[in-house]
Amino acid sequence: MTDSSKTWKQHDIAITSCEKCPRLRAHCLKIAVEKRKSYAGDTYWGRPIPGFGDHAARLVMIGLAPAAHGANRTGRMFTGDRSGDWLYRALFKAGFANQPTSVERGDGLKLADAFVTATAHCAPPGNKPTPAEIGRCAGYLDWELAMLKTARVYLALGKIGFDAVWDVLKRDGQATGSRPAFGHGKSVSLDSGRWLLASYHPSQQNTFTGKLTEPMFDAVFNQVKSLL
Ligand code: SF4
Repeated sequence: MTDSSKTWKQHDIAITSCEKCPRLRAHCLKIAVEKRKSYAGDTYWGRPIPGFGDHAARLVMIGLAPAAHGANRTGRMFTGDRSGDWLYRALFKAGFANQPTSVERGDGLKLADAFVTATAHCAPPGNKPTPAEIGRCAGYLDWELAMLKTARVYLALGKIGFDAVWDVLKRDGQATGSRPAFGHGKSVSLDSGRWLLASYHPSQQNTFTGKLTEPMFDAVFNQVKSLL
């Protein structure tokens, strides 16, 4: 059952102090100490990263997990890496962000009508959280989706996020039946009247290979706007 007496601030503090996944916590701290050479002068965040954006959003995006030298360094979702460059540029073009770049916390970025979170709040080795780790982190996503009451569209970035969100929506009573197959641009009408939309994740694995192009990603946000 959702604890609606909990505030967003309390929720975010619970995330940033979470130690439920020893493998992920050790990995994040190791990366924060070792650092990438090009970020040697940065103080890495190294802790779990809370969601970011507008708590009265109609668009809720769910990614996979923070990147080791991106959000694990900067402390803000999708900030400081190539995936974030793609995401925030697209959000800016679609009118959900006040600037096209997301470099660091305190860079002035604000989201309007949009919120971004992830299936796991710690950076995983190889960008792959285990099912058990996603399961341990799911309670945070359950709470967020329950509290984001104005949501109209859930946009899952990548298959893992799509599957995890489907499971959350089923637990929440917003969806029934078997999990739909993932496909870029796929939209699923939910029992709650909301929509679940799927996109390839804007990871370098997809954007460098041309599996996801900028027009394809922009088209997803045009689809979002038409559903709102
Ligand atoms: S992935 Fe989630 S549940 Fe696991 S330690 Fe990080 S914040 Fe906690």
